[in-house]
Amino acid sequence: MKQSVPAYIGLGSNLGDRERILREAFHTLDETPGIRVLRASSLYETEPVDFEDQPWFLNAIVEVETDLLPHSLLEQLQKIEAQFGRERSVAKGPRTLDLDLLLYADCVIEDERLALPHPRWRQRRFILQPLSELRPDFRDPVTKQSLDEIMASCRDLKKIIKHPSRSPWFFLPASQRLVPMDRS
Ligand code: AMP
Repeated sequence: MKQSVPAYIGLGSNLGDRERILREAFHTLDETPGIRVLRASSLYETEPVDFEDQPWFLNAIVEVETDLLPHSLLEQLQKIEAQFGRERSVAKGPRTLDLDLLLYADCVIEDERLALPHPRWRQRRFILQPLSELRPDFRDPVTKQSLDEIMASCRDLKKIIKHPSRSPWFFLPASQRLVPMDRS
């Protein structure tokens, strides 16, 4: 049996029915051979960074376990982005679905296709905040800093607002939820 490792994937959308797109992306990730979604953060409305003249994003993070190697996992994420109609017409511009491989166990990689941990994960509140929901105990595999320390030194002043809807976790099939479904 292949060994599974934990990984964290960032999801974002700012085109079309963003909530539906993220929900379907969770299912698609979970249905991909070699990837199992374990938990999802809340959804966050986030102000765009870099290219600012575009709609706000809806972002979340999922924790997965995977027996794919890092480059194969990235390849699967790019295939899923393409399935959702992602085009790369404007760098950092609007996108139906953006999937970023944020962390893959304690793996550190830097080559022409893949950088791990993700190059910008420490600078983005829309990554740090949902990650702290899932892994408050998390430490940077490179610097060993705690998430609290990283958040305290993060200079990102963009607004991020917890979305009022349920966690996308709600949409996962009941058999795969770690906590009972909240029907309230
Ligand atoms: P983006 O347009 O922001 O989704 O960036 C995609 C490009 O970043 C692709 O060419 C990837 O090969 C590259 N890349 C490098 N490291 C990562 C990573 N950890 N997660 C996602 N894409 C990455």
